[in-house]
Amino acid sequence: MPEPLLFEIGAPGREGYSLPEPDVPTRDLDEMLPPARQRQELNLPEVAQIDLVRHFTRLSQQNFSVDTSFYPLGSCTMKYNPKVNEDAARLAGFRAIHPYQPAETVQGALRLMYELQNYLASISGMAGITLQPAAGAHGELTGMLMVRAYHAARGHQRRLVLVPDSAHGTNPATAAMCGYEVATLRSNGRGGVDLDELRRLMTDEVAALMLTIPNTLGLFDENICEVASIVHSRGGLLYCDGANMNALLGQVRFADLGCDVLHFNLHKTFSTPHGGGGPGAGPVGVSQPLLPFLPVPVVGYRPEAAEGEKYFLDWDRPQSIGRVRAFYGNFGVMVRAYTYIRTLGAEGLRAVSENAVINANYLLALLKEYYDLPYQRRCMHEAVLSAKRQKAHGVRALDIAKRLIDYGLHPPTIYFPLIVEEALMIEPTETESKQTLDYFARAMIEIAEQAERNPEVVLAAPHHTPVGRLDEVAAARRPNLRWRPESKKS
Ligand SMILES: *Cc1c(COP(=O)(O)O)cnc(C)c1O
Repeated sequence: MPEPLLFEIGAPGREGYSLPEPDVPTRDLDEMLPPARQRQELNLPEVAQIDLVRHFTRLSQQNFSVDTSFYPLGSCTMKYNPKVNEDAARLAGFRAIHPYQPAETVQGALRLMYELQNYLASISGMAGITLQPAAGAHGELTGMLMVRAYHAARGHQRRLVLVPDSAHGTNPATAAMCGYEVATLRSNGRGGVDLDELRRLMTDEVAALMLTIPNTLGLFDENICEVASIVHSRGGLLYCDGANMNALLGQVRFADLGCDVLHFNLHKTFSTPHGGGGPGAGPVGVSQPLLPFLPVPVVGYRPEAAEGEKYFLDWDRPQSIGRVRAFYGNFGVMVRAYTYIRTLGAEGLRAVSENAVINANYLLALLKEYYDLPYQRRCMHEAVLSAKRQKAHGVRALDIAKRLIDYGLHPPTIYFPLIVEEALMIEPTETESKQTLDYFARAMIEIAEQAERNPEVVLAAPHHTPVGRLDEVAAARRPNLRWRPESKKS
């Protein structure tokens, strides 16, 4: 049964609290609050505490989360986030500080930021890092503003940005926001950049190539070094979207691939609960020539300075693109990422990517007999399959996604990447056990069989949820956000 609204649960006169009679004059309070009559006209719900508690507890149980079940939402890295990260983020010394406090009173926080910059630099090989951007897409914006500043400083503002058709959708959007024209690069038959096409399009007007690594097909570009050298030979920069770095930790350094600008998604790779608009962080790493353009302030360290002044905010950077975020970024996310990196260490981080890749390939091996595989290659951290075969029976990727909900599983990303028909983009992540993967594969195989023999059961899914298929277009176009009492409904 769908959970009723609080308005529908209550009855006039019910209260969720009881307070003793006040022993101080209440005249001021009466003046501050609207008169009782007006309060009634607000039609606020009136519920007992027990009904209130049950209402919100039931709602929380209808919520899906990584802590309740498997969440293979491709490209989003919905892995388990160790609870020790939360403990660290809630330490009073981190939780209860204010960004306007003098630097000498927050040396520990600045040290954490400084060391996190260094860890990200050593993981990626990049020369400098800013922690300021609040999300992956925000990191892209920051990175591309630095690309602009770099070309401007060299006296020739270029016009174009190249983006492969296998890139994340935020890449072309970012380039356009920075005022660039976007030219799309076709993928070759192995899901990589088509080198001939790149050579043809790579002119002196191209500011950068934006490459998602691994790309949205879950594939690593086999010609990445060749790609970088073609871009560099015409004075362009290589921007790398590293949001899905859980595939590559400790395996390869982006700088060694020829990357000039790179963004990380701390909330994905470095383990902060995200989704639903929760806080994130999209630090950006740059190569040596782009260092002067980093946003201010950069967190610096001077070992020779007096105690209390060693860690500092460096504002003295005349070529900086300026600040991109209020204060210094989402500090709580930085604490979680720092804790995650420190608890795992170099060996642990390498194991993260080994497990992410082996988990995805395990699923690929179990499922490729039952679903179409558009590129016959080993994948990285995610496997992109196609429901083309099921479509012949009238069952589409959306129907398969809805049917998975009946098995207690979160659906994978669907209809993305756009270059795969009926795409099912499955990212199991490194934190899942073989049992969980086997359960998911069994569900997917059963659904493939149902699609062939009994498509109605798939087409009518989900069967076991409080509500079935929602009208998503109407929900987006005509959202019904306000409750009205029965008497006032028109
Ligand atoms: C998630 C993702 C982004 C965007 O990150 P947000 O934090 O959601 O803004 C960009 N690129 C890739 C490849 C991603 O997976």
